[in-house]
Amino acid sequence: MENKKRIMIIGLDGSTFDLIKPWSENGYLPIFKKLLKEGVHGNLRSTIPHATIPAWPSFATGCNPGKHGLYDFFKEKKSSYDLTVEINPSGAINKPTLWKILGDYGYNVSVINVPATYPPSRVNGYMITGMLTPPKVKFTYPHEFQNELIENIGEYNVFFQALSAKNPEVLLNDLNKTLETRFKAVEYLWTEKKPDFLMMVDNGTDRSEHELWKYLDKQNPLYEKKKVEKYGNPLLKYYKEVDKTLGKILKLIDEDTILLLMSDHGQGSLHKFVNLNMFLIKEGYMKIKKNPLSKIKYFFFKLGFTPKNLYELLRKIGMERYASDRISSKTKLSILNKFLFSTSDIDWSKTKAFSSGVTGSITINLDGRQPDGCVSSIKYESLVNEIVKKLNNLNDNDNNKKIIKKVYRKDEIYKGAYLDQAPDIVAIPEEYYEFFGMHGFTFNKMLVKTFGNSGSHRENGIFMAFGRGIKNNYEVKDANILDITPTVLYIMGISQPDYMDGKVISDIFDDDYEFAKVEGKLRNIEIEKLKIKDLVKKLKKDII
Ligand SMILES: [Zn+2]
Repeated sequence: MENKKRIMIIGLDGSTFDLIKPWSENGYLPIFKKLLKEGVHGNLRSTIPHATIPAWPSFATGCNPGKHGLYDFFKEKKSSYDLTVEINPSGAINKPTLWKILGDYGYNVSVINVPATYPPSRVNGYMITGMLTPPKVKFTYPHEFQNELIENIGEYNVFFQALSAKNPEVLLNDLNKTLETRFKAVEYLWTEKKPDFLMMVDNGTDRSEHELWKYLDKQNPLYEKKKVEKYGNPLLKYYKEVDKTLGKILKLIDEDTILLLMSDHGQGSLHKFVNLNMFLIKEGYMKIKKNPLSKIKYFFFKLGFTPKNLYELLRKIGMERYASDRISSKTKLSILNKFLFSTSDIDWSKTKAFSSGVTGSITINLDGRQPDGCVSSIKYESLVNEIVKKLNNLNDNDNNKKIIKKVYRKDEIYKGAYLDQAPDIVAIPEEYYEFFGMHGFTFNKMLVKTFGNSGSHRENGIFMAFGRGIKNNYEVKDANILDITPTVLYIMGISQPDYMDGKVISDIFDDDYEFAKVEGKLRNIEIEKLKIKDLVKKLKKDII
């Protein structure tokens, strides 16, 4: 191939310049410091909402979720209000991914642990699937590659084990091991298969921030002075590991490689969880069944018999291992549903709106669309307006601050063939607030102090670029996660398909970057492609 340029993207889920910049300036992260100085960097605006799903699929396709159709980790089961995790996320993305397009143009690709790539799809190269890969399945394309990978780099866990470790050292150990494995995969594929494009995502940055932000923020409800004295700054320890890994990556790549770093969203301190369904009950949009059992369950729920309190009680008496390890989460849920107030006590035929998923979305219970929909299409508009207005006015009585930063109707933020699958309303929380996931009733108030997680997402992720033809020490403004795919295509000499919502971040290139030459070449590739298509058509006709 004429174009010898290679591209490597390292995705750092949830990473933020709020940590990287000060820690680089203090000398803790020498490789980040070098990349900031010798390359381009800037905030990368995430999707709305700023969640891992839809952010990574939106990056991969260059499209807003209305065009690719994947809005959340969770979706309602067919003809039901129960939630299920999207089990075939790659199949739910209804637009070509960056690696598919590059492969179609003859480039070799290696795709490593990008979220929502399971089941592995056919690429011109190799794929190891990422977050949302179920256990004990084939996780590579081609399938035979899985054995080759394990033979060459050892055991391969697609995802880390310790999702919630009490001890930061246990957590870091697990995250470091996963990062090391992913780097080995990068090293093996980059040197042995020599792809034109390689991408790897690390999720350890996101997980460690969710778990360990409390070590950075004295105001965080989960801040414990004793633990800080004992463990210091474990989040910095993880970023130092990432920095070291980036150092190894810089040694792998040569001067013909452009290195891009990106995250799907940022992260910051989390102080309170918001339960939108409690808001909907309080405002009368969500109704509880009138049968005696549901009424009793709601009575006890209001008294404090909630999954959150039950779990905390078990923890206090030292039995939380029993609660978390010995019973599968599915069994736990069905037991809890039997005794505790849950979605099974909701009278759906009288409920006008509900919140589901992990992202602060609200769906109107529309007649003809939802299984027990009771809102007529004539009333839809005024109901949406009413709820939007109330969400905008939600206040935290403890500090008299607003809880919601911005509320969107779906047609303000999404467009495309899958708009009908979008939630009707999407609320974005103010900093320090996060919506509590799923539409269960884990706690009985609209607002509670955070538990478990001490960090939550922010809308600005990171973008960095480094290599020949890329500006030095330059800050790019207004970059959006949808822009990365068009920019990579541009570097590889492929014109951006019309349907994409992103744009090339042309600001990152040196002034003498050979735009004209690339554009000429790009047209040639397209013309060649069309010629081949015509030829195939003619051949087909001839055969028939
Ligand atoms: Zn994420």
